[in-house]
Amino acid sequence: MTDLVTLTRTLAEPDRDLVVLAEGNTSMRTGDGEMLVKASGSKMATATEADFVAVRTQPLLDLVAAEESDDSLVNRVLLDARLDADTPKPSMEALLHALCLEEAGAEVVAHTHPTAVNGILCSDRAQELVAGALFPDQVVVMGRHTVLVPYADPGLALARAVRTELHRHIERHDRPPKVIYLVNHGIFVLAASTSEALAVTEMTVKAARILAGALAVGKPVYLTDAEAERIDTRPDELHRRRRLASREDR
Ligand SMILES: [Zn+2]
Repeated sequence: MTDLVTLTRTLAEPDRDLVVLAEGNTSMRTGDGEMLVKASGSKMATATEADFVAVRTQPLLDLVAAEESDDSLVNRVLLDARLDADTPKPSMEALLHALCLEEAGAEVVAHTHPTAVNGILCSDRAQELVAGALFPDQVVVMGRHTVLVPYADPGLALARAVRTELHRHIERHDRPPKVIYLVNHGIFVLAASTSEALAVTEMTVKAARILAGALAVGKPVYLTDAEAERIDTRPDELHRRRRLASREDR
């Protein structure tokens, strides 16, 4: 829990320009089918343990998977999924956190609205974010392939769109993504630890800044498939990646 609070407050440091006010949220797997997720309306910058709610994930996953459900059910399901009825209501985006933890095997999930990334996500060039890798460290930290989800109404519609794209990605690449870009909205980072969640968020912001620079100068030049694949499978890079994800490295 302490690590999750520290991550949450770190992500909200004003200099990072990732969230303002009550934007963004974080979560962590705490056991089989259970997670801690930020409460609705609370601020990441001032988060304490009391701002996190313990939630069962299965009711959330069932809601997203059920075709007949609609947004009127979301509040009830979020409230009923709490382990302790005296805790606050989980964030509406808890649906997305449940998907990332349970259907993509993440341990820690960080959702932010970084200004540098949203500048591109709110443009007609958003597709360039997932068109390829621009530099080696991007591949090491963010993986070769990331996901872009078209705009959908926050709530069930967005959760269903993320679920569809997540499954498509895992089918195609045989492993879950570390970054999910939400058009006109923000990013979800899927990590094995709080330290990795911070590192992947930082690299995603850096990659967006570099892409914006490349688009301002001319056309982005992506690494070739062979170049990106080589970085992705080099033993020294695998070692770096393991160190980055390890819990001891916090
Ligand atoms: Zn959001």
